[in-house]
Amino acid sequence: NGGNRMKVFSDQMRVAVHERIAGEKLLRQALDGDRRQTLPVWFQPIVSAATGEVMGAETLVRMRTPEGEILGPNRFIPAAEETGLIVPLGEHVLIEALRHLVAWRHELRYVSVNVSPRQLAEPDFVPLLADLLAATPELDPQRLILEITETALLVSSVDVQERLETIKGLGVRIALDDFGTGYSSLTWLQSVPADVVKLDRSFVAGLADDPKKTSIIQAVLWLARSLGMSAVAEGVEKEADVAALREAGCPMLQGYLFGKPMPPEEFAARLQRSRMA
Ligand code: C2E
Ligand code: CA
Ligand code: CA
Repeated sequence: NGGNRMKVFSDQMRVAVHERIAGEKLLRQALDGDRRQTLPVWFQPIVSAATGEVMGAETLVRMRTPEGEILGPNRFIPAAEETGLIVPLGEHVLIEALRHLVAWRHELRYVSVNVSPRQLAEPDFVPLLADLLAATPELDPQRLILEITETALLVSSVDVQERLETIKGLGVRIALDDFGTGYSSLTWLQSVPADVVKLDRSFVAGLADDPKKTSIIQAVLWLARSLGMSAVAEGVEKEADVAALREAGCPMLQGYLFGKPMPPEEFAARLQRSRMA
């Protein structure tokens, strides 16, 4: 019995290692190719809870395989993190996010971009950010939001707090991603100079039928407000949850109900419609 279990386990490990190596190889090829083609960035609307108007967009990267299949980030971000390929990948995403915001600057207030702990720890990250912002003088840096997760505090060797202060000095805003899922969310809230909390979808989905979730969300929203921070509820899928979130005073909403992540052309059409409505 023990022997069988060992075998299953080692087979799973072999598959996992194999997948990671395959993912890494694909990612290297993608980064070597035309990045706009092989690593498209998609956008998901973030809407005002009060009006339903599209205010912002989260930038979410995809990978197009040589066979034309579109892969989600969970298929290649872990390998990118491990190998350091997240650095050129992250640079590409940031460039694309700003490029699209410039194009949409009259219809869209902000874009947010996910920044991995490893990227944040790079000494070149802040200079890169400063260069990109200098190259887009038509954008107020406030219109860029960097989304970071609590793991940045745990795994990073650099002083994350200090780095975030420097980034804020550029005028860029900071959002705490997946808020509530980490181990020390209150420490995180206290030590990081953030402007926005993103309530993780595990607290948001099914909110309307769950008094406990409602209490948690209300308390976190109260906390955010008292600290002068804005809030976005992630993973909003049902109308009933929208009502509950509005009642709790959540200013911004994101989720499949308002739109899945979509290619830029589709997002642009969505913005046009949102403007005419
Ligand atoms: P995240 O930052 O929490 O991004 C939100 C994820 O939730 C996205 O998945 C989005 O498609 C999904 N989502 C949004 N609304 C709903 C909903 O109503 N229901 C459900 N079930 N899901 C919803 P996606 O695009 O697969 O991205 C997964 C993760 O990959 C992201 O989680 C983020 O951590 C990472 N990621 C994506 N793009 C980048 C990037 O450019 N750089 C880095 N470092 N990480 C990225
Ligand atoms: Ca995010
Ligand atoms: Ca999130």
